[in-house]
Amino acid sequence: MYIAYNNNGEICNAIEDDIIKGGEYICPLCKNKVIYKKGRKIQSHFAHSKNNNCKITTYKKESKEHLEVKKNLYQHFKNKYSDVQVEYIFKIDDSLQIADVYLVDKNIAFEYQRSVIPYDSIKQRTLGYEKAEIKLVWLIDVNKFVKELRKSNEILYIRYAPFVDNFLNYHKGCIFFYGYDYENKAIVFYQLWSYNLKKRNAICKKTVCKLGDVDFPLNFKISKDNLLSQIYRKDIENYIYVQLKYDKTVKNKLLGMFYNQRIELTNIPKVIGINFNEQLLFNTPLLMWQLEMYRLYNLGKSYGEIFCKLGNYIKFNSSIYINSRIKSHALEKVVKEYYKILVNT
Ligand SMILES: [Zn+2]
Repeated sequence: MYIAYNNNGEICNAIEDDIIKGGEYICPLCKNKVIYKKGRKIQSHFAHSKNNNCKITTYKKESKEHLEVKKNLYQHFKNKYSDVQVEYIFKIDDSLQIADVYLVDKNIAFEYQRSVIPYDSIKQRTLGYEKAEIKLVWLIDVNKFVKELRKSNEILYIRYAPFVDNFLNYHKGCIFFYGYDYENKAIVFYQLWSYNLKKRNAICKKTVCKLGDVDFPLNFKISKDNLLSQIYRKDIENYIYVQLKYDKTVKNKLLGMFYNQRIELTNIPKVIGINFNEQLLFNTPLLMWQLEMYRLYNLGKSYGEIFCKLGNYIKFNSSIYINSRIKSHALEKVVKEYYKILVNT
């Protein structure tokens, strides 16, 4: 942490001010004593003693990267705007919340996130900003959460951590998220297209904006390209093979579905395994919901009945940007399109 009070109740900022080593400082939130750590390799900062009970979890054990990114964002915006605060504290109902960096003039806050925290905490913090009517930009650590597998021209093949699911945006069929590249000091924008049947593998286009060039509005453009890949028979066979490794009996949900519909694994209908971009938002595997829809369709169920059943069958991953309205929109698009495909085959 960078902000603490001294004995006289004055605010000390470890990035800006000359702080006296060995002086007495207290945490503005929990009022416990904090120690000033003069840095050589990293920026000087304050830290709680071990076993502290500070309510702000990020203060418990703050990483070097978190300190560094906060400082970089703070200094960059400070050069551009007159009122920029690091570790800005604001009150929501009866609790205090803290923004990594807050641009007062713009009413925009930044949260840099590199530790995995539960979805409920992310949601609660996001709601805090909404209540305070502060615009919030979450920047997740892409060095930690995104692995670039290979690159061909402008197209990247990535695998990302489950934590990224919490931050996926969905707009007009496009899926994207923001992050911060700590190594290259840049805000990055990833647009994703569903790739194969492996979870959290995606094709993507990445736009990089060096911190020195960052200004508002953040103008990352959504690409109109459709890079959605086709799922091949081989992908499907491999996927089923992996499932077999875990459980070969009909108790295996996926195998059970094939078995119940008398579908031989060597002769899977072409209509099973059609890729959809929205799959990146779903927790329910693609083959499962398509087999379920195929079954209902073959039973002669109407579109309305199928839509209703699939609404309960397909489960979404949690994301702070995807509310129930967006969910039903995505669901409708997918079920409608897949229904058309079923009708036409
Ligand atoms: Zn504290």
